[in-house]
Amino acid sequence: MPIYSKESLEALRRSIDLVEVISSNVDLKRTGSSYKGLCPFHDEKTPSFMIQKGDDHYHCFGCGAHGDAIHFLMTLQRLSFSDAVESLAEKFQVHLDVIEGKTENKGPSKKILKEALEKASRFFQFYLLHTPEGYEAIKYLSKRSIYTDFIRQFKIGLAPKQIGMLKKILNEQGVTDDVMLASGLLAQRSSGGYRDFFLDRITFPIHDPSGMVIGFSARKYKEETFGGKYVNTSETSLFKKSRVLFGLNYCRRRIAKERQVIIVEGQIDALRLIHEGFNFVVAGQGTAFGEEHIHELMNLGISQVYLGLDSDEAGVEAAAKIGNLFQNEGVEVDVITFPPGRDPDSFLREEGPDKLAHLLENSTPYLDFLVEFHSRAINVSTPAGKNEIVKILTHQIRGWKHSLMIHESLKRIANLLQVPEHMIGVGQEYSPNIHIRKSASIGLQKVDPTRILESDFLRWLLLMGGQLPRLIKIADLNIQPHHLINSSCQRIYQTYLRRAHNNLHCDILSLIEQEEDQELLSNIMEKKVNLDKAEEHFIETVQKILDRDWMEKREEIKRKIQSGQCSDEDALLLLKQFDELKKAHPKVLLPDLDTRELRKTAKELHNYE
Ligand code: ZN
Repeated sequence: MPIYSKESLEALRRSIDLVEVISSNVDLKRTGSSYKGLCPFHDEKTPSFMIQKGDDHYHCFGCGAHGDAIHFLMTLQRLSFSDAVESLAEKFQVHLDVIEGKTENKGPSKKILKEALEKASRFFQFYLLHTPEGYEAIKYLSKRSIYTDFIRQFKIGLAPKQIGMLKKILNEQGVTDDVMLASGLLAQRSSGGYRDFFLDRITFPIHDPSGMVIGFSARKYKEETFGGKYVNTSETSLFKKSRVLFGLNYCRRRIAKERQVIIVEGQIDALRLIHEGFNFVVAGQGTAFGEEHIHELMNLGISQVYLGLDSDEAGVEAAAKIGNLFQNEGVEVDVITFPPGRDPDSFLREEGPDKLAHLLENSTPYLDFLVEFHSRAINVSTPAGKNEIVKILTHQIRGWKHSLMIHESLKRIANLLQVPEHMIGVGQEYSPNIHIRKSASIGLQKVDPTRILESDFLRWLLLMGGQLPRLIKIADLNIQPHHLINSSCQRIYQTYLRRAHNNLHCDILSLIEQEEDQELLSNIMEKKVNLDKAEEHFIETVQKILDRDWMEKREEIKRKIQSGQCSDEDALLLLKQFDELKKAHPKVLLPDLDTRELRKTAKELHNYE
């Protein structure tokens, strides 16, 4: 991840207007010195989500949700830490200095590239809406029921037929050829010089989470245009094909909230669905859908996938393949069956949203789909055919990661094909080699138990401290900064305590003392804590740190005694210390209950007597 200079983060922190960030997601009403709205984190009819004017934290009196701007974007839109930081910087026009990062910093900055792409997008849109050539393209689009409101909503454009036109226009606006090349608008000609990457095609801009253009998907609208149906921006520092999901910027929030997603093939399919209110849809690059796309969606917490691919042969095969990738991760997949010759776009246009909702409800569970899929080529009514299909399916299912998923799926297959469960090995589905393979790849990253324990401790404080101030008291009473070994953890904790003691809010950016703390902080923030029994779990973590410290002290004495460098007298003294320490196993101290709770306890005691 990129590391930003402390100064630029500080500048960003000062520029963030929380009300502005939140009001693009929540309808806020001002009452006196506070803003109120319906909480986006729980369902409610009367607003209990509040921000005090000038405060950098929000608070919900209904569900207790509490946090700052970064926290808000990370929770509601499931942005990563750096995406949240970058989207805030974009919004408040703060320039972030990147001082270190895995992304190579050669060539023009991402900001410059995005500006160039934004200009190109505006030009393409203008060209579509206001030129004779554009008129032809609009005629084509309107045959597909894409009208002006749709064009404007999704910033659809047209790359002109004339060679060099975009280059000339952008050059005039101060965009250099190098920038156009690095942003994928131009390509290098093998004979030297540049050529337009998009010519004579309808363009669909692709956005990053903060809504900035990072590339285009361009569709031909005339038979004679050279090349495939779609041309996409090639790999640039902004546009990573293996990760980009078309339409996600319009749907991120709802996908994260409802934990479900529809996957379609084409860009127009996705936009049509969004336009008609199904704004939990994404399109891959045609039927290509890979591990990283899955990963992006898994990060949004999805638990249900609907595959809405075309009903042709390629679409069905892609559904079998993509479905497998999700089932492997333990995500439920359903396949939407469109009537022959229809895609989501044409279906929605001709049948309307209600019919599509009906199709969604009646979609086919993945395993049923698989049986159907293989039954086309294999005759299941013969013993050999059934044997073959069982072999194929059990082999596939046994390759998945989660044993419960395997178990349940095998049972279902047995049921669907009417074979006795024991014959396909239901109950023997544990496949250890898969787990080994998985942990081996994790093992490449350094696993540092110290850092894990201390990150857990900080995660509770940072994510829950605002909501449950008692956690801060417990931390303060038991853990001193020196109890933490990892230097970043120690520093962040120290700052956190200092700010808490001074009644200062602990927004995430204010906790970054040194640049290297950013990676740890993003790591802390990107994992969730379980709200249930928060105090209990927190106390457990604190106890582990105390135990570790206690063990370490004992080891220290042991080492001194065994070093052979102390006198008998000293050794005896040390032994005594060791014994005392052994008896004094530390236990987490708990702060007094607040008076209200005390009164309640006193009353209970009284009743007891
Ligand atoms: Zn709430």
